Amino acid sequence: MTKPIQTTCPYCGVGCGISAKIDAAHHRLKISGDTTHPANFGRLCSKGSTLGETVELKGRLLQPKVYGRETSWTEALDLVADSFISTIEKYGADAVAIYGSGQLLTEDYYVANKLMKGFIGSGNMDTNSRLCMSSSVAGHKRAFGSDTVPGCYEDFEHAEMIVLIGSNTAWCHPVSFQRIRAVKETNPALKIVVIDPRRTASCDIADLHLPLASGSDAALFNGLLHFLSQQNELDTAYIEAHTEGFAEALNTAGIDIEQVAALCRLNKDDLHRFYAWFATHKKVMSLYSQGINQSSSGTDKVNAIINCHLATGSIGKPGSGPFSLTGQPNAMGGREVGGLSHQLAAHMDFSSADDIERVARFWNTQNIAKKPGYPAVELFDAIYDGKVKAVWIMGTNPVVSLPDADKVKLALQGCEFVVVSDCIADTDTTALAHVLLPAQGWSEKDGTVTNSERRISRQRALFKAAGSAKPDWWIITQVARRMGFEQAFHYQSPVEIFREHAQLSGFENNGLRDFDISAFADITPQDYERLQPTQWPVNQDYPQGRARLFDDGRFFTESGKAQFIAITPRPPVNLPDQDYPLILNTGRLRDQWHTMTRTAIAAKLNQHKPEPFVEVHAVNADRYGLVTNTLAIIESCWGSMLARVQITDSQLPGSIFVPMHWTEQYAGRGRMGALVNSIVDPLSNQPESKHTPVRIKAYQPAWQGFILSRRELTISAPDYWVKIKGEQHYRYELAGITLPENWQAWAQQNLCDSDGGTAQWQEYQDSGRGNYRAARFVNNQLESVIFIAAGSALPERNWLTGLFAKSELEKAERIALLTGCPPLGVADVGAIVCACFNVGEKTILAAIREKGLKTHQEVGLRLKAGTNCGSCVPEIKALL
Ligand code: SF4
Repeated sequence: MTKPIQTTCPYCGVGCGISAKIDAAHHRLKISGDTTHPANFGRLCSKGSTLGETVELKGRLLQPKVYGRETSWTEALDLVADSFISTIEKYGADAVAIYGSGQLLTEDYYVANKLMKGFIGSGNMDTNSRLCMSSSVAGHKRAFGSDTVPGCYEDFEHAEMIVLIGSNTAWCHPVSFQRIRAVKETNPALKIVVIDPRRTASCDIADLHLPLASGSDAALFNGLLHFLSQQNELDTAYIEAHTEGFAEALNTAGIDIEQVAALCRLNKDDLHRFYAWFATHKKVMSLYSQGINQSSSGTDKVNAIINCHLATGSIGKPGSGPFSLTGQPNAMGGREVGGLSHQLAAHMDFSSADDIERVARFWNTQNIAKKPGYPAVELFDAIYDGKVKAVWIMGTNPVVSLPDADKVKLALQGCEFVVVSDCIADTDTTALAHVLLPAQGWSEKDGTVTNSERRISRQRALFKAAGSAKPDWWIITQVARRMGFEQAFHYQSPVEIFREHAQLSGFENNGLRDFDISAFADITPQDYERLQPTQWPVNQDYPQGRARLFDDGRFFTESGKAQFIAITPRPPVNLPDQDYPLILNTGRLRDQWHTMTRTAIAAKLNQHKPEPFVEVHAVNADRYGLVTNTLAIIESCWGSMLARVQITDSQLPGSIFVPMHWTEQYAGRGRMGALVNSIVDPLSNQPESKHTPVRIKAYQPAWQGFILSRRELTISAPDYWVKIKGEQHYRYELAGITLPENWQAWAQQNLCDSDGGTAQWQEYQDSGRGNYRAARFVNNQLESVIFIAAGSALPERNWLTGLFAKSELEKAERIALLTGCPPLGVADVGAIVCACFNVGEKTILAAIREKGLKTHQEVGLRLKAGTNCGSCVPEIKALL
């Protein structure tokens, strides 16, 4: 092991510092939280803690491929450059596009954006960050004149009240949640309010949960503004000195508490309690995320929240202010370089002719784009319509993550030229590429990222590049040079790009733009290497960075004053009707990241929620004949998916929830993107991913079953299948409409390819009842088991999966094997709750019962569960 290297977690926007020790000989990492990093001070969640298990080379894209054939970098890069040139010559610059990702490092993003907007001359560079925070960008810009997150994480410790709006922070930004939990534990007077249609794990620490009707957030905050005015709780001096547009915003917001309660379908007393708390606490933070942003009126919702902070002057001060939690590790970095199609670079955009001219001068280009390009949803529509004929997708999986995802798939299938750069070989999107370019993975990349609190951190290479993989910035600059732009893309290392990015941020800035890191304009390679996490701006006035903006009451609007925005709430565009009576909500899970390309590699992370599921309220389950743990088919006007039913009162009646993660690599018909309507916010172009009318019905298969196998299998896929990587085994959950003629033959066909037919078989069949069970052994070691049933009566998987850790089964285990139940005296741990220490629900319940445990701390002391990353604490508390 080497001495630790400090780097940054590649998952969520918390941007935790990682300390990694490298065992290069075995290509392994020992991961711990960086105790010096101000984003996490050593804490990590389950995803960050298991990063070391995701760096294997299996499944990596290691060599460039052209039309399915492995080739050299030279041939692949020549082909990309030539195809882009010929497409531009034939159809114009707007016929090509780049679709990037919040996973790219700032340096990668900078050169991709510069190539498209500065030199190809089209605005067609957009990014998957469009899907998670572009409404915040638009809302910030309207209110502040700049895309600025005013506060910082340290404000959690100063706040008197924290409001979580449309954010399951406990699962989606776990380390920030743990930090808030710690504050609450030391200061129980801290008020925490969760505003979310779902009762999520974040409610675990809440004093109040407001389960508002889907899409009604703007009305709720309009009502708050009205209430603050009625109660004389406005900061009139602040409004007068530092803002504009208050009177109109207040007039438009004229809605009293009864009306709000009716519109939001909330208990009036609860609503009043929230309003009164907001009014009487001086230091209030409003943390919001996708529940606000992913809406056809997301920008208005953002401004409705900001209005309340401006009205009380609670912005830019310790412990107060609106705070957008960004989804991805470098969503903020992407905004800095202009990764969204309406942006230009360094927080300048196409709305200003001066900005366009300034950036053109800085880049020394005659061919700069003059207008915005296609935002994400429109971009893939333009590909579908044949307007964009060549697209380069970098580090993202739009066939899964975009709304109306089946149309996105069709668009790429029909596109003349699709380039995908990725570190993973097989994704739903790489499957459609004409050219595949192997990019370096997280543990190989070198550059910077910016987290939710504007903190720039270094991501450092831990391993040498795998195979022929290259940094994204290198791949992009090589294509740019081949397209004739050698002069502008001469970089030899990421520090040269970062330096130029810093220079542009300060170029003719003079305090006019919030994003200014000109203190790094001449950064040396040594200083870049040593760069410590720093919050921008970093300039002459703030050489060490700046924790909060707007503390001086000065904003980046023309008048220097913040703008109230008059908000008229709008309902979601597509409302439930007779055919599609339910509202589909979508979101992240605790232990998976985006389209699972990395997290599904770590067996530990697959135990918490192993299958795509749908959460349904009991009222709707009764109505549609759904039974918990059986399968259901969910349909919208746009597509359908299959998922396992979970009946829960954490859902509101009339709403269902599905996770966003599953792809065709891990599940048959598990892509939620296929269902989601492609409606967007007219200002931010962010899709309405939290509100799609759907219907649901029971899926009645002729058979169900599962296979556990020591080796990965190629299963002749039935209607429903899910692949789950476990410790020393793969698990396949299966269901089908059509019965195979002969189960024995089916099992032979699907299981035998893993051992060359040398295994010993143990079988049980009850044809009358439609049951088939078999186990296979190689050299007395369990190789695989298969359990098939006509109904859903199948044994629990946990005891069986544990047997794969054994080199040989005991006699009692072998006898019990095909019953699926452990022999007498052996306990089943139940569904895994604590992924870090592999502690199951049944173990926790038994300990609670038998030892009389009362708190999650006592459970932790006895079983270790919840004592590492803490992500499972809400679930342990629920079991208590
Ligand atoms: Fe990574 Fe978890 Fe930190 Fe997010 S909270 S950056 S996923 S360790």
